[in-house]
Amino acid sequence: MNPYLQLVSKEFPLEKNQEPPHLVLAAFSEEEVYLQPEAAKQWERLVKALKLEDEICLLDGYRTEKQQRHLWEYSLKENGLSYTKQFVALPGCSEHQLGLAIDVGLKGSQDDLICPRFR
Ligand SMILES: [Zn+2]
Repeated sequence: MNPYLQLVSKEFPLEKNQEPPHLVLAAFSEEEVYLQPEAAKQWERLVKALKLEDEICLLDGYRTEKQQRHLWEYSLKENGLSYTKQFVALPGCSEHQLGLAIDVGLKGSQDDLICPRFR
């Protein structure tokens, strides 16, 4: 099985009490963002290949289930249920909990973590 091809969604939640992945600090981020080593390597290659070092940055990567739950509850309070269901994965159902998913934004733009303007 290719460990980088994992489907995680509401229909395919992560197993409970799964070992946390091995993580490294990712490049091109304004905050401390962690990813699985292969994801961090590919992100760095992509940014360098596109020469976007000065334009884009990593906003978010690995999240624990607790962090995902916090994000869900925060968005629910701030934005309501339908918005939250559209932009935030349920705790236990986010690819961010694998350390393989990334959120990308424009550098220095204080972008919204839940729904970045940068597509
Ligand atoms: Zn994301």
